[in-house]
Amino acid sequence: MYDKCVSYLASRGVTIHDIAQCVLFLQKDYHPELNEAICEKVIKEVLHKREVQHAVITGICLDIAAEQNKLADEQLTDILKIDSPLYGIDEVLAYGICNLYGSIALTNYGYIDRCKPGIIRQLNAHRKQCNTFLDDIVGAIAAAAAGKLAHSL
Ligand code: MG
Repeated sequence: MYDKCVSYLASRGVTIHDIAQCVLFLQKDYHPELNEAICEKVIKEVLHKREVQHAVITGICLDIAAEQNKLADEQLTDILKIDSPLYGIDEVLAYGICNLYGSIALTNYGYIDRCKPGIIRQLNAHRKQCNTFLDDIVGAIAAAAAGKLAHSL
C-alpha cells in the first residue's frame, strides 16, 4: 500500500522531495538544523500509516475519476473539475490525515493551505489535471510530518 501511494503521488507529479520542501517551509524557523533527509524520513513514516494511505488513494482516485468523467454524478464532476471553493470535502479529507498527528498538524495545514508553497502552488495552477483533492493531501502530509517532527525534535 505504501509503494502504491508513492507511485500514485508520482503519477500525479508529486515526489517525496517536493513534500519535504513543504515541511522545511513549515519548520525551518523552529528547527534551523532540520534538513531534507530528516523531512523525507518523517514523510515516509507518515505515508506508512494506513489511514493516511486510505486518504491519499481516495483523494487521488476521486481526482482521476472527475478528470475522466467517471463519477456517477455530473454536478459533482463539475464541482471537482473547477475546484469549487465552496466544496470543502477535499479539506475534510485532509483533516483526516492531520487529526492523526494532533493540533500542530492541524494548524500547520491551515497555514500551508493559505501560503501554498512550492508544489502546492503548482498543483493549484495546473490546468490539465484535476488536483482538487491532491493539493490538500500534499499539504496535509507535509503538515502531519511537521507535527510529528515538532514532537520529536
Ligand atoms: Mg483542494
